[in-house]
Amino acid sequence: MVVTPYRDVGTGHRDPGWRAARMPVPTSLRAFLAVLILSLLLVGCQQVPTATPAIEPSPTRTSPTVTSAPATATQAPTPAPKLTEEPAQANWREIVIIHTNDEHGSLLPGESKDFIEGGAAYSAASWLRKGYDPNAPQGNVLLLSGGDNWTGQAISTWFRGESTIEVMNAMGYKASATGNHEFDAGQEVLRERIKQARFPYLAANLYRQGTEELVDYVKPYLIVVVNGVKVGIIGLALKETPDVTAAKHLEGLAFGDYEPALRRWVPVVRAQGAEIILVEAHICPQALALLAEKVKDLGITLFEGGHCHQAAVTSAGGALVAAASNYWRDYVLTRLIYDPAAGKVVKSEHELVDVLLPQAASPAPEPTVQSIIAKWDERTQTVLGEVIGYTATGLGRESAALHNLLIDSWLWAYPQADVAMSNLGGFRQDLASGQIAVRDIVSVLPFENELYELEVKGKDILYALKASGEPLVLGGIRREGEGKVILLKDGSPLKPEATYRLLVTDYLYGNPSYPFKLQDQQPYETSISWRQPVIDWVRAQKSNQDNPLEKRLDAQSR
Ligand SMILES: [Zn+2]
Repeated sequence: MVVTPYRDVGTGHRDPGWRAARMPVPTSLRAFLAVLILSLLLVGCQQVPTATPAIEPSPTRTSPTVTSAPATATQAPTPAPKLTEEPAQANWREIVIIHTNDEHGSLLPGESKDFIEGGAAYSAASWLRKGYDPNAPQGNVLLLSGGDNWTGQAISTWFRGESTIEVMNAMGYKASATGNHEFDAGQEVLRERIKQARFPYLAANLYRQGTEELVDYVKPYLIVVVNGVKVGIIGLALKETPDVTAAKHLEGLAFGDYEPALRRWVPVVRAQGAEIILVEAHICPQALALLAEKVKDLGITLFEGGHCHQAAVTSAGGALVAAASNYWRDYVLTRLIYDPAAGKVVKSEHELVDVLLPQAASPAPEPTVQSIIAKWDERTQTVLGEVIGYTATGLGRESAALHNLLIDSWLWAYPQADVAMSNLGGFRQDLASGQIAVRDIVSVLPFENELYELEVKGKDILYALKASGEPLVLGGIRREGEGKVILLKDGSPLKPEATYRLLVTDYLYGNPSYPFKLQDQQPYETSISWRQPVIDWVRAQKSNQDNPLEKRLDAQSR
């Protein structure tokens, strides 16, 4: 398996770009939409009770009935994939698992002239067109997420995930792994979201700090009865969550190792009668494959991951291992054939299905989900629709013009500070050309960060520049010349022994990859959202079509 080393890392994201980080998947595989692993898997060989006692509450199936989008001749051709032959024996049970991950609140699809890509309602329509309905009563379809459900589009971020959960409820999700972004608005908000969700958040390795006690608002596992078969789903949270999430949101939490958590909970789940065991993990596919090898003796059938935004469909340690990319742009469709008499999975296969639909085919979104999205979109338009400026060309997320706009606006709004620094990873989208609405700024900067003011020496600033793993966006200073001399705005060199006031986000401050916390242990918490100065500055420029924002931007990299 080849995995490009790119990680989605929290508020400090080095986020894989649109499409950029997909794992290479052979064309033949894509064309056939499948990696077929038809070998008999020796998983699930353990004898399981043949009687089916009523055990764990099966997930509520009270979600609204989802009407299949009518298949018309003009719809995108999505022929049902040829998977295996039908179950060879009448008592064999088929279980279909649909897995998405890193949805990041992408309720709305990406649209270009030629294609519609991703989005919740188009994803739902895609699997319904194939005949897989997660909401069908007594159905055989299990819809699961690998986590990072929200933080992304303004329609999700502004409402702190509430819209996303309403949509996921309607889509028929039965469980989600607990992604690092689930903590983006703090644990109280996460609790609210979990209460709102008709499905549990799973994390068997999320402990109260200093104990082996699990956190009360997530569950280690869920057992559901699907097509008469008891399926145990064990969840795992990303061990590195503290490296990529603002520390203030993780108070009292400890993220433990994966293997001990599985060794602790697999026997429990099996003792509860689970006949098939799956792992839903907010873990990149490469690490997940290593984990699958390590625990191959546990008889886990399927590992599904996320976090890296890398689609992968593979196998390891006798189990299927997979992840989708992100934003509902694709999903992993897994089909298991279970033989109750033998007490084992006799066939298993999975494939990655793209949600990339030609505009020419006028693809239809799933109407129930679409109506919920439309409601939230309207609320978003109202709240965030205020037009605050105009850009003629648009600003790329990696452009110096956009970086300088952000950082200079901080110093404009907070002139007491001398210097400002931000990481690149917080910039999540381009600013599209045309009118700029508040929502566009939220979409570019979706994280809930606030500004901290630090008192540091010039040498601390120089050290931070050297020590950080990625180039920092700079305000109030610039690098110049081959020797990368650091100059202040007025052209004078930064003095190593002088004291400066430095603005950084609370995320950067709390992140152990940066030295700021050591440099000033008593920062001033300004309570200013990091995006508010951007909104205020853009609004103050009164830009319009005749007088676009570009005229006021510094596009020089620093
Ligand atoms: Zn993640």
